[in-house]
Amino acid sequence: MFRPTLHAFNKRFAIAVFIGYIGLFSVSFLLMFVFPIGSLAIVVLAIFGLLIVVPVGAGARAWEEGLNRRVMRRGLCPSCGESTVIETSTGVRCLSCGLTHDQRGAIVIVREESDETDATSPPPREQ
Ligand SMILES: [Zn+2]
Repeated sequence: MFRPTLHAFNKRFAIAVFIGYIGLFSVSFLLMFVFPIGSLAIVVLAIFGLLIVVPVGAGARAWEEGLNRRVMRRGLCPSCGESTVIETSTGVRCLSCGLTHDQRGAIVIVREESDETDATSPPPREQ
């Protein structure tokens, strides 16, 4: 119940912070010509804001990974809750949703290895 909300927060947190900093930059740039002290104050606020934003992001991510590890110990997929998970070399892969979580509980992107050779792959070398 809470994990999907935390996952959604973590998924959007970095881009929200980035957009916020772009907005602060825009306001600061406009204030530079009208009220230079305000522009300087925004820059200082933005720099010291990193002392709050970075630990909040890292903490939320660590919290989600901890909750994911708890679900993975029960043999369930942290993303969809199905019990169709298999252990792979990169972590735990769910056969229902196709996501792979590493041992820390973070979602990892795994490139599928296919047995078939497609038209773009070079032909096998002959010796
Ligand atoms: Zn799943």
